[in-house]
Amino acid sequence: MRGKSNHKGFGHGGLRWVVLHLIAQKPRHGYELIKAIQEMTNGDYSPSAGMIYPLLTELQEKQLIRMQVCAEDARKQSYQMTELGHQVIDAYKEHIQEILNRINIRAQQPKLVIDTLHILKKEVREVLAGRPLNAEEAEIFVNALKTAATTLQQLKQDTRVKTSTATLDKKPYRVRHHLKFRIVTVQDIFNISPSLIRIVFQGEDLADFKSESFDDHVKLFFPDAATGHLLKPEMTEQGLKFADDIKPITRDYTPRLFDLDAKTLAIDFVIHDAGPATKWAQHANIGDQIAIGGPRSSMVIPMVYQHYVLMGDDTALPAIARRLEELPASAQATVIIEVNSPADEIVLDSAAKVQVTWLHREGQASGQVTLFQQALQNLSLPQQNYFIWLAAETQVARQLRKILVEQYQVAKHAIKAAGYWQRGTSSAHTVIDDE
Ligand SMILES: Cc1cc2nc3c(=O)[nH]c(=O)nc-3n(C[C@H](O)[C@H](O)[C@H](O)COP(=O)(O)OP(=O)(O)OC[C@H]3O[C@@H](n4cnc5c(N)ncnc54)[C@H](O)[C@@H]3O)c2cc1C
Repeated sequence: MRGKSNHKGFGHGGLRWVVLHLIAQKPRHGYELIKAIQEMTNGDYSPSAGMIYPLLTELQEKQLIRMQVCAEDARKQSYQMTELGHQVIDAYKEHIQEILNRINIRAQQPKLVIDTLHILKKEVREVLAGRPLNAEEAEIFVNALKTAATTLQQLKQDTRVKTSTATLDKKPYRVRHHLKFRIVTVQDIFNISPSLIRIVFQGEDLADFKSESFDDHVKLFFPDAATGHLLKPEMTEQGLKFADDIKPITRDYTPRLFDLDAKTLAIDFVIHDAGPATKWAQHANIGDQIAIGGPRSSMVIPMVYQHYVLMGDDTALPAIARRLEELPASAQATVIIEVNSPADEIVLDSAAKVQVTWLHREGQASGQVTLFQQALQNLSLPQQNYFIWLAAETQVARQLRKILVEQYQVAKHAIKAAGYWQRGTSSAHTVIDDE
């Protein structure tokens, strides 16, 4: 896409990408977009309504966004992404990330720098519009700008080395999604390994399914085990409401693969000793119905790292496999996965350069840290530009994060750790932050 905007680090055409990025985060009104851009630029840039609304019309004409009338007030309209819009921003996500990084860096510049730049631009404009300069004045003008340009070139060369990796916006960021309750039907069932069953769900409700991060989760709502009856809630302002407050059993699972054209979603179920979700997956039949809620949001780890370390047990395997499939050829990944035995290893596809270590429990109980601890002794972490993601039993994930921070001096912001289940507890999800 081409365009004219070249404001405050946006670059040519950048405003379009920023507007699409903001609408992809959540549906927004035109004035909310103006406010969000003001905030992003630290108040340095506020696109006018005369710029934003024609741009929104253009994006609608290109079918990248659509307008929806606000339920509470028909005079208000918000804009949301179309499927084509999502595909386009997905295809250009690295370009968009670059624009966001530029805007972010520019927004962090000291106020004095920005004010001085405005003064300089104003003075240049006024001198050039005043009257034709004579030869002597022209020389003064050129020399003044040349001196400034040379100084800035030196500054740029000095800082380029320092900022090339350090100032990229690498922080994971959250994208919220409209909460939806979907009824889906089992279309296919495969045994991927002795301990992993893939169930492919299909349904019209999946036509607008969204999952932007490999470690997203959906909530599966299981039918009543005795009657097979699937409880359907009402969507209220407070969330899902079930009749008589009788809630079905729910568990969290990773959206492993989805296809919006075929309206399918595949989920890989780990088979362990007990639990309604496991039991349901083991006895599922083609044609069975289940309900799916979410993902409510995605915590996106930007694809800007050179090296990814991915660690976890069987329950993390779907997310790890999905991440590996998404990584570009330029990335490297070190993967440590614990399963029961060599028979439980699965094929992992990736364009990236991947080194996988499989750990085998060989019949020992899952949810123990020992095998991971041993594997960490052989782990050599890169010097910089890496991100560690790990998920396992809660205590195991907690201990691993502690070891990485305390013994390996990994910066806390370079790790995302989660408990995907907890020994002796049902349906546990623990985000392990600073504890
Ligand atoms: C964000 C997120 C994503 C997840 N993605 C997946 C996924 O893609 N595939 C997947 O299989 N699981 C995944 N899990 C884990 C899954 O939600 C739990 O394992 C869940 O507890 C299984 O439900 P259940 O009904 O079988 O057992 P529950 O009724 O929840 O638990 C019954 C008993 O089994 C134990 N238990 C639970 N899980 C395990 C296990 N894996 N191994 C050994 N004992 C266990 C519990 O401690 C409890 O004592 C994910 C969890 C989270 C939080």
